[in-house]
This record gives sequence, C-alpha cells and structure tokens, in this order.
Amino acid sequence: MGRTFRIKVRMRRFRRQHPRIAFAIRSFMIFSATFGGAYGFVTGSRAPNSGYDPNAFAIGASFLFALACLGLATLSMRLRFVNKRMRKLAAHNDALIDRNWELKEAEERARNLFESQGDLIVLRDHQGRITFVNDAYCALAGQARRALVGTRFDFDVLEQGDSARESNGTRIHDQRISTPLGARWIAWREGFVRHDAGQPAELQSVGRDVTDRTETERALSDARDQADAANRAKSRFLAMASHEIRTPLNGIIGMGGLLLDTTLTPEQTTYARAVKTSGEALMALIEELLDYSKIEAGKLDLDQRPFALSTLIEEITELLAPRAQAKKLEIAAYVDERLPLEVTGDAARLRQVLLNLAGNAIKFTATGGVALIVEPGIWPNQISFLVRDTGIGIAPEAQSRIFREFEQADDRVARTYGGTGLGLAISERIVKRMGGRITLESEPGRGSTFEVAIPLAPSQGHAGQTTFPSPDLAGKSILLVAGGIEASLIARRLERWGAQTCLAADAAVAEALLPERSWHAVLIDRALGASLTDRLGEVARAHATQRLVLLTPSSRHDKLSPAFTGFLVKPLRAASLAARLALTPDVPSPDLAPEPVEPAAVKTSPGGLSILVAEDNEINALLMRSLLTKLGHRVVLAVHGEAALESWLAANSAGTPYDLVLMDIQMPELDGIEATKRIRAHEAATGRHRTPILALTANTLVEDRYACFEAGMNGFLVKPLDREKLDEALAGLASSRQIAV
Ligand code: ADP
Repeated sequence: MGRTFRIKVRMRRFRRQHPRIAFAIRSFMIFSATFGGAYGFVTGSRAPNSGYDPNAFAIGASFLFALACLGLATLSMRLRFVNKRMRKLAAHNDALIDRNWELKEAEERARNLFESQGDLIVLRDHQGRITFVNDAYCALAGQARRALVGTRFDFDVLEQGDSARESNGTRIHDQRISTPLGARWIAWREGFVRHDAGQPAELQSVGRDVTDRTETERALSDARDQADAANRAKSRFLAMASHEIRTPLNGIIGMGGLLLDTTLTPEQTTYARAVKTSGEALMALIEELLDYSKIEAGKLDLDQRPFALSTLIEEITELLAPRAQAKKLEIAAYVDERLPLEVTGDAARLRQVLLNLAGNAIKFTATGGVALIVEPGIWPNQISFLVRDTGIGIAPEAQSRIFREFEQADDRVARTYGGTGLGLAISERIVKRMGGRITLESEPGRGSTFEVAIPLAPSQGHAGQTTFPSPDLAGKSILLVAGGIEASLIARRLERWGAQTCLAADAAVAEALLPERSWHAVLIDRALGASLTDRLGEVARAHATQRLVLLTPSSRHDKLSPAFTGFLVKPLRAASLAARLALTPDVPSPDLAPEPVEPAAVKTSPGGLSILVAEDNEINALLMRSLLTKLGHRVVLAVHGEAALESWLAANSAGTPYDLVLMDIQMPELDGIEATKRIRAHEAATGRHRTPILALTANTLVEDRYACFEAGMNGFLVKPLDREKLDEALAGLASSRQIAV
C-alpha cells in the first residue's frame, strides 16, 4: 500500500515536473493501444480461418461497448468529483485572499499605530542597528525615518537614573537625554523580542517622556527638604525661645516659692500664690508648645521599658485627686485584674496623655466625678484606657474638631475654662505614634468618655513589680455605703475578689440592711456626712467584723468614731483595700494605725554637701543658693565656666573638693559642656575621684541631653527647679553612692 502510494506520488511529481514528456508518453500509449486493438481486430476478422461468427462478434462488440460505457461513466464521476474539489478550492482560495487582505490591513493599522504612538519606540538588531523607529522617536531625534533605519543612532545621555529589572526580564530605567528640543527625561522599558524563529532577537525599547513628572517630583522633593529644614529650624527656634522664657520663669516660680515660705500677711500670700500659679500655667503652656513642635518635627521618640500598669494609673489618680476634691468631685480608678501586671511601652508619654484627658475631665465637670478604667482591648495585647466624666459633654459637631490643634468645643469654653486647645491634638498624635487610637463618646450635659486603645505587650520578667495578693473573699458579704463613680468601681473590684457586695447609696437603706445578715466588712463613705457615718459605724458594730470608713485626705485628720476598725483614703489604692480586707478582725483602731500618707517632709542632709553652682543668671544663682542652703548644703557660686573650673581646681588643691557641681549649660566665656570636659580631662590626668556633675538647663531637646552625657555629666536637672526636685536629685545621687552624704 505504502509502496504503491510512493510510486503514485513519484509519478505525479514527474508529471508536474515534465508535463511534455508525460503528454508524449500518454499520447504514445493511447495511440499504440488504439492502433494495436484496431489492427488486431481487422487482421483477426479477415483471416480465412478466423471462424468469424457474427453472433460472437456482436457479443464481443457489445462487451467492448459496455466496457467503454463503464469507463466513460467512471471518468464522468471522477470529473464531477474533481469539479467539486475545484469549487471548494476556489472558495478556500477566495477566503485566503480575503484573510490576506485583512492581515495586510491589520498590519498597516498596527504599523500606523506604532508609528503614531506618543511613546518613543525603537527596535535594534543584535548589532545595535535600528530596524524600526516610530514617528515620536524620529520627531525627538529631528531626523527622517529613512535616515535613522540601518544606523546605530542613539541620544546622548546626560544623566542615568536607577535601573530595575522585572521578572519577565524587562529592564526599566530613567535617562535624561539631550535632544534637539532640549534635555528630556525618558522612562525606558527595554526587552528582547524575536520576530522570526531563525533570526536573532531584537532589542525593543519603549520610552515615555516623563520630563514634567520628574521635574515636578524634583521640585516637590526640594520643597520637602526645604520644609524639613524650616521645620528643624522652627523646632530649634522653639527650643531656644522656650529656653529663654524658661530661665526667667524659673526665677519667678522659684522666688515665688521662697517668698511663700516667709512670713507674709494673708494679702501678700494671695499675691505670691497668684504669681507662682501664673508662672506654673505659663510653664505648662511652654511645655505644650514645645511638645507640639517636637511632634510636628517628627522628633517624638518613644521609650520601650517595662512599667507597672496599676502603679501608673494610681499615681495619676492621686496626682489629680487634690484638684478633683477641691471641686468636690470624685476621682477613682479601676485596673482590670485580667491585665498583665507589667507591660512594655513609654510610661511617661502614656501618663502625659492620661493626665491630659483626666485633667480635662476634672476641668469640664462641675458635679459627679471622673473615673479611669483600664481594661483589655478588643485585640490581643491591646489595652483600653477609659476616662469617663459626668461633666458638660461635647456637642456631636465638635467631637472630631476638638482633636485638631488650637480647637475648642466652643467660644464659651475658652472664656470660662481657658486652655489652648493643644492638649488633645498632642495626645492624639502620641497615641497614633504608639500604634493606637483615641475615640470619644459624649452627650452634651451628660458627660464624656475618652477611650485610648493602644497595643502594650506584657513585659518579660516583671522586673521591679510589687504585686499584692488578692484577698480571698469568696462567700463573704460586704456592705458598701457610698454613692457615685468610686463606689461602683470598688464594688466591681470586691466582686472580682469573690465577695457578695451590697451597694447602698443611702444611710437609711444601709441601716435597714445591716441586721439582715452577718457582714465580713462594712465600708462607709465619710462623704455621707460625719454624724451619719459615725452613727452607721455604731450600728454596724453588732453586725460587721470590720467597719471601715472612706476618707478624703482633707478629712483624715477629723476625729473618727472608735466604732470603726480602720480607714481608707480616697482615691482608693487596690493594694490598700486588699490589705485592709485581708486583716484579722482585731484590727487596731485607726488612731493607732494611721496610713502613711503624710507629705514627705523636706529632708536635709546631716552636715550638708559642699556644692559648686555654675550659673550666669543672677536670679537663678540666687534661687539655687537659697534652695540649697535651705536644704542644709554649703554653696559656692561661679558666674561662668571659667570661674567654675578655677574654683573646682582651687578647692581640690586646698584639699576640700566639692561633693557636687551643678553646671548650667549655657554660660558666657566657657559653657557648661566645655567646663565639664575640662574637669573630666583633669580628673583623668591626675587619677582623681570623679566629682558628680549635674547639668542645669532649661533645654529639653534630646540632643542636648546626649551632649551632657557625652561630656561626662552624671545627670540632668531641668529648670524650673523646685525644692522637691532638687532634693530628689540629690537623694538619688547619694543613694547611688556617688556622693558621700
Ligand atoms: P484645652 O483643654 O487646653 O482647651 P484640649 O485639646 O485638651 O485643650 O481640649 C480641646 C477642647 O475639647 C476643650 O477646649 C473642650 O472644649 C473640649 N473637651 C476636652 N475634654 C473635654 C471633656 N472631658 N468634657 C468636655 N469638653 C472637653
């Protein structure tokens, strides 16, 4: 089969290649067959012994005729079949011609499109010769297509930008090129394309003119750099200005304090207090402005150190308690016990935010109270700090506005309460920087709740954490006779400890409840009134083992009824409550066991220290001398760095070295940093013991602190200084055994 097919194919090929020879062979074969047949027949029929039989002849002729007819029929069928195929081929041919036209048109369109593209398009062969360029390229090159194709033309590169490669191998880069139309920035995309399998690949470059965009970007970046520089200059200026303002303020506040320590008439005391309070208000304003400028300049660096949550919250509450109690407001805190004891974060900044929110809450509340509640947030490691008040509330339209700088809810606020409208703007930025958010829910006339939710991871190791054991109050009944925010928070805490708590806001109700059962403890708020509280205490004697009274610091010196077994000072510390409730019933009477809440008396060091104070500002020098002398120290003043150095050297050679040097940073002649460096160099050269040196400055920028430590100083004291701050710093130095007190 295969063989016959091969022979047929060969014969067909031969016929196609040599049509004349094939025609001659075919004609010869037809002629030979016809002639052979006719000759055979005539010769055969004429021969005498041929036995011609007309019947057989007729049969033979008919047979041949039939054969001829069959042959003709076969030929006619083949002809029809061939005709059909011819028609099909003709139709196919027409379709191919149409398709060819379409392709040609499409190619033309594509070429036109390519050529009229706004982007530059150029194709180069493997030798870098141009094989195709579009109109845009020709226009930019200022040459005709004919002149470019076949050449190695390229633009001069004035500047080469960064280059990157995509995963499909396309190279992307920017170039600044020189063209007859001037310098242009082109963003190129280059890749290899292969048009024909047998041909080497061509480099296709498509370039977009991005001159406008690049120049705008450059202008923007320049503008940003200038703005950054201006911002830096602004914060430097603010730091300088605030330093300049702080220095005289230091004198005003300090001298005001000293004046208040002297014997004054009541009128003079009022004036002196007003001077001191105004100075402190001005200082707070400067702090806020400085903080704001720091945040604006992006200089807010956050600390990451472990701190105890409950200590932070209790400190804030205690700090604000006098302000709240002066307005007859309650202030209370609650830290959920599911929270970690210690977390890692910036305690100082968090304290600043919460102090601002709680301070506002007190400022804008006339009756009721303020609560600080700390709970787990909705996300893992998130902690939610709620500051709730029962104050004037904030109108819905002002709620988002007050977070913007210098915005207050309305003009009345500024007139009635004062303030700058910066606190919330600063707080929000700090919270955002911590990765959290600050939200507000408020209704005018019904109070506000600010929520700060920030991620705070539990700290590893709980270093320095002093936790208290929770008392086991399971099954014990406690009657709490108090009203307001603090009472509900105390009840919540007692329930967490397992107690069955009964909260009664009214003394008469409490009196009726007392005989109902035997109480483990009865807690009575002195705010109900002294006589009512004492009476309730008496009644409770028969029904409760522990009878505790809740006091404000101002009422703790009042005479208490012996019916009480103890007292607790508001705002209540969870640890104090736990300790009180865990006690045995025979607790000593309150008079015998007062809680240690007396303000720490200013301590004076026995014998005192010999201190060199280098300070150029006369008033501040006088203030330092008075403060230190009052604390029992001996002071020598130096008016500039040079004088300080001389005095220090003289004291050393006289064998009476100073115990401490307090060094102002900005001084004429020789500044504090340089003077310290010289002292340290001298100590290193002579092998002397290092004299503790504390910087004394109104500058609070971080770089200034670094400069102090780099110069070899031991610490940093920020002006304005008061007696407590100074005493604390001196005590700190003494305890770190750097000064022999
Ligand atoms: P300042 O208190 O110095 O005015 P803030 O930025 O801290 O600045 O507060 C902006 C404004 O938001 C306040 O002036 C006040 O109108 C409103 N506001 C803040 N906290 C409260 C609050 N607890 N209750 C009512 N209004 C508040």
